[in-house]
Amino acid sequence: MIIAVDGPTASGKGTIASAIAAHFGLPHLDTGLLYRAVGRQVQLAGTDPDNPDDALAAADFPDCLLDDPELRSEAIGGFASRVSIHPEVRAALLERQRVFAQQAGGAVLDGRDIGTVICPDADVKLFVTASLDARTDRRFAEMQSQGREMTRAEVRDQIELRDERDMNRKDAPLKPASDAFVLETTALDKNASIAAAIEAVEGERGGPR
Ligand code: C5P
Repeated sequence: MIIAVDGPTASGKGTIASAIAAHFGLPHLDTGLLYRAVGRQVQLAGTDPDNPDDALAAADFPDCLLDDPELRSEAIGGFASRVSIHPEVRAALLERQRVFAQQAGGAVLDGRDIGTVICPDADVKLFVTASLDARTDRRFAEMQSQGREMTRAEVRDQIELRDERDMNRKDAPLKPASDAFVLETTALDKNASIAAAIEAVEGERGGPR
């Protein structure tokens, strides 16, 4: 069973995807980490994330970079959203994601374009979303718990900027697949969101598509 989980920044899709993977005993790939690694590689190389050649060169990052704790920072999230605009970068990361999705037994992948581009034939597609305020609160709390110094207003601005880039890029923009189940988590806490997602997967799998 292939489960695609897409959604905007700080919607809770990562938490939900990893909980679904544990529940159904499936491997999980956070595809945002791949884009973050490209962004981090650009930063380390001191090259330009907005230049397609520089960004493509960074897509050849060493695998050990995926363990760099800096990948989780808001700054690298910003770099990731800039490099992810380039079709060359998206193409370079596509095969790796498809191979992961097609392993025997299935997989859970979360990102922005899993249901629309990477796995258009996924058995279940969830699109996880929440209001800008709810997402700002969650990301702000996460930043504080990691000891990263940012004001709530800065967090909100960065989320808005990333939404705008992710939704308006030409190649693989963030949007729900036409056959996705939209899970609105604004009023749900973490446990309730996970429970709703598991229920949605149970309801969607094998159902009419
Ligand atoms: O999900 P996360 O916030 O870690 O992703 C970082 C950035 O990587 C996103 O803002 C988006 O621009 C990009 N991304 C993407 N496609 C994916 C996953 C992430 O474009 N499948």
